[in-house]
Formats: sequence, C-alpha cells, structure tokens
Amino acid sequence: MHLDHVGIATDDVDGLASLYRWLLDAPVAHEERFDGMQICFLALGNGYLELLEPVEEGPISRYLDRNGPGVHHLAFATDDIEGALAVAVEGGIEPIDEEPRPGAWGHDVAFLHPRDTGGVLIEFVAHEE
Ligand code: ZN
Repeated sequence: MHLDHVGIATDDVDGLASLYRWLLDAPVAHEERFDGMQICFLALGNGYLELLEPVEEGPISRYLDRNGPGVHHLAFATDDIEGALAVAVEGGIEPIDEEPRPGAWGHDVAFLHPRDTGGVLIEFVAHEE
C-alpha cells in the first residue's frame, strides 16, 4: 500500500488549487463534481492532494461546520481493496463503508472510522500500488 492522496476540506476549491499550484508547483491532474462536492486533484510526485468543497449538504459541509477547513483524510492505494477492508474489520476496526463503493475519479473507495485509527479518517482506494 502507498499513500495515494491527502484529502483537504475547503470552502474555496478554486482559490486553494491556485494557491497550491503556485506554492507547491502542483498542477491540476483531475477535476470533477462528484457526490455533492467540487473536487480537484493536484499532482505531487507519486501522489495527490484532493481538495474537497461541498456544493450541497453532506459529510464535507458538516466537517467544515465542525472543524473549519483543513486536512480531512489520508487515502492509501491498494490493488486488493476488499482484502484490505476485510483485514481491518477482522482486526476490530469499524468501517464506514461495509463494502467498497464508487468514489472520486472512477476509483472504488472504502473509509474506516477515525475513532479506531488514531483519530485519522483513512480511505482505501482501489488501484494498482
Ligand atoms: Zn480521498
């Protein structure tokens, strides 16, 4: 498994994308409106930043209301997402997604509850390592 991306909640995806493109020399790799969010992936080395702005009520808008903008989750790429999820569940970690589901950029994803993972929201992303 490797770190695929860091998810960042923001109320200004275009402004933050411009800032990081300039500050980090991180070009836009992918943009889409998905699941009530405007999402922008910026390419950085072998990984990405995923900027998430809510366009309707949902988990990211609730996160922003509670915590303000900032780091939201860490995503790890795996070529066996069902196996990774099974290992987590067998180890007593509560999944947010019982089964992988379609996520941003056409990849299946599954989230784990941060209560069981050191306060960090972890996402598994299905694609080759
Ligand atoms: Zn993500």
